[in-house]
Amino acid sequence: MPPKTEQEPAKPEPMAVQFTYVENYNQLPKVVQKLSRSSHLILDCEGQSIGSPEGILSLISVGTAGSKEIFVLDVLRLHDRTHPLLRPFLLLLQNPTVLKIVWDGRMDFAEILATYGVPLRGLLDLQIAEVVSRAGAREEQEYQRRGRLRRVFDKEITMDSSLRPLMRDFHVVAGLQGIIRECKIVENLAKDDEVVAMHKDGNSSFWLNRPLPPNLCAYAAADIKLISLTYDFFIRKAWITAANHATLVCKSTRYTSYFDSREKRQFANDMNVARLLPLDVVHEPEPTQYQCYLCMRMLNLGCFETLVTAPAPAPAYTGGRRGRGGSVQSRREPAGRPVPSHRRPCCRICAMCAKAGKVVIATDWLTL
Ligand SMILES: [Zn+2]
Repeated sequence: MPPKTEQEPAKPEPMAVQFTYVENYNQLPKVVQKLSRSSHLILDCEGQSIGSPEGILSLISVGTAGSKEIFVLDVLRLHDRTHPLLRPFLLLLQNPTVLKIVWDGRMDFAEILATYGVPLRGLLDLQIAEVVSRAGAREEQEYQRRGRLRRVFDKEITMDSSLRPLMRDFHVVAGLQGIIRECKIVENLAKDDEVVAMHKDGNSSFWLNRPLPPNLCAYAAADIKLISLTYDFFIRKAWITAANHATLVCKSTRYTSYFDSREKRQFANDMNVARLLPLDVVHEPEPTQYQCYLCMRMLNLGCFETLVTAPAPAPAYTGGRRGRGGSVQSRREPAGRPVPSHRRPCCRICAMCAKAGKVVIATDWLTL
């Protein structure tokens, strides 16, 4: 890179990081040995239209703790999933005891499963840790959560107070760049303008070029550094602690493993639900769950709009079918908790995104 000699403040150079390009099976034993020694790994994927039906995975970037070492694996060259030298690496990816730090691991999960047939395990998704920190460590208020919904829904929906109860637990997920800037995690976040512009063009087929231009390899490696710095920041801020670590891993598993095909990610994009944290990730699963007719997720009853036909006798409801008619569930009932008798076929997130996108979906009440 040429030295900067201008007097005026110039845009900083793209972040430069050291990395090893892995394009030969013979390199893998040493790579796996180094990765296995690390307390945790940082992982990220690049490719053409990844997470869509046209997806082709090009690179898997993996870093050791603190991104001290970064390996950029050329998936197009290391494509033989039955190769004996690749097997230990694939075992590492699916080993739940090897912690992997990701930012939005949904596409990583879908792509690695589609390409190598192995499910990523042991993920801690920082995108979820960030959402959890809002009402937790950062003590954000309800209006701040609602304010973020404006990034997904237009005014007509966010200003309609009758819809608020239906969006009570909706959380907008953030992008890595946005959080890095907002929290000033990196002083001068400079991404390679050329690569950023190539991404904005919407055609990411450049990831399939071989030999891969050096600036693309460097771009992929720099993302590992950024995720690593973000992870360190989250630890320092106690957004990730020993106390919430296991919960975050469980949530991350539910968040990412849903995407067991590239088509599912496409559905999430088409419905514009991908920017909201799914309700089966927000809430811990209850013993009885119900399936959403649209996203097909198994969800707690509270994730659906429900209908109450009669107030339950206090203090506890012991079962039995209620009569017909009634009103939409209210949050307070004078005598005991209201017992829903019906639910909508689609979860509240699917229903609200369909409403926003003017998509017609099933809305008939289902008897519970
Ligand atoms: Zn749904």
